[in-house]
Amino acid sequence: MESRIAERMSRLGTETAFSVSLEAREFAAKGNKIYPFHLGDMNIRTPQKIINAAKKAMDEGKTGYCPCAGIPELREALAREIGRSRGLKLAKDNVSIQPGGKPVIMKFMLAFMNPGEEVLYPNPGYPIYESQIKFHGGVAKPYGFRMSARGFSLDLGQIERLITPFTKIFIFNNYHNPMGAESDASEMAKLAKLCVKHDLLVLSDEAYFDITYAGKPKSIASYPGMAGRTLILYTFSKKFAMTGWRLGAAIGPEWMMEQINRLNVNDESCSNHFIQWGALAGLRSTKKETKQIIDTLRKRRDLACKLLNGIKGVKVFKPNSTFYIFPDVTDAMRNLGFDDVEEFRRFILETTGVSFCTRRHFGTPLESEEREFIRLAYSGIDLKDIREGLLKFKEAAENPEAAEKWRKNRR
Ligand code: PLP
Repeated sequence: MESRIAERMSRLGTETAFSVSLEAREFAAKGNKIYPFHLGDMNIRTPQKIINAAKKAMDEGKTGYCPCAGIPELREALAREIGRSRGLKLAKDNVSIQPGGKPVIMKFMLAFMNPGEEVLYPNPGYPIYESQIKFHGGVAKPYGFRMSARGFSLDLGQIERLITPFTKIFIFNNYHNPMGAESDASEMAKLAKLCVKHDLLVLSDEAYFDITYAGKPKSIASYPGMAGRTLILYTFSKKFAMTGWRLGAAIGPEWMMEQINRLNVNDESCSNHFIQWGALAGLRSTKKETKQIIDTLRKRRDLACKLLNGIKGVKVFKPNSTFYIFPDVTDAMRNLGFDDVEEFRRFILETTGVSFCTRRHFGTPLESEEREFIRLAYSGIDLKDIREGLLKFKEAAENPEAAEKWRKNRR
């Protein structure tokens, strides 16, 4: 019967980070302690006001269908909030509520990419971009990043060289997973000009817009010529610690929203009704709680970066956004005799319980890449375990004999 599986399924990718979770779970099942730096899930509670408002909505019977684009109250509140934070003029009709941020990626490709068109996307990057481009018959063209004094930044020259007459879409994930890369205002202005010059539509994945630790975040949609061609991916997952609630939004010009709403009707009918009332309470009255979430994450980031930079052969920039760290482990690997970053990952997991992803979980490395990186998420692990885990990591990473022994035992 397997021959009946549709051909397009062979083009669908996945989040390979989930395979790391599986390995970690298997390791834990043998009675080992795991330090979970691998998944971007959160161990921080959703603010109680959101929980109470969702419960109240259920009690009040808000359990039936609602409009396919979402409840008007939430769309209006989000239009106000996104308009304020991004400097955009938005109204309810610029907002379409979604069952998470992730579905916006598939809906964008379905609505605005024709088969054979080229899409530029970040690599390393969130793996769903490449998966969805290919699944819907597009040509996935990865662009990379450069190391600079302020961390990772875009290579605008490379991006422009990649653009051909067939390039129609640019995917931008400022406040970037997995590198925490962040464009400053001047870089974003140049990028916006490039998008206008080549008439590109832009999917601006702003999942981490609100997870920034200093300065005022900016959206590419606010630059001249961009509002009419940019769709913002918004999510309640991170700012409100609501990953499992599954609520997000597509925000953009009305001509785009009409198409996205048509897809809503054909797919989920509407996002979960009572959860939208919870999210509305979140937008209205959780400033103190969302600040606490950021403060918690900031402390974790600071501790993790300090401990990682104390490990011989490990070098990390402290990112100003997201809850990810992307250390260069090339020298640590060399000191231990590893040339495969996945082997290095397994060695650390099996000798310390510290579980993380590697650069390979975020796309196939580009030819120009010479260094090896890993990605640690600190959203699902508290300070005590960050300290305990990373001290164990240090011990293992500075012990070539242990690495040699581990290799021998595997042979
Ligand atoms: N975009 C990026 C870059 C992400 O890292 C994630 C989740 O980790 C998402 C989008 C989707 O988030 P969600 O579907 O939880 O809203």
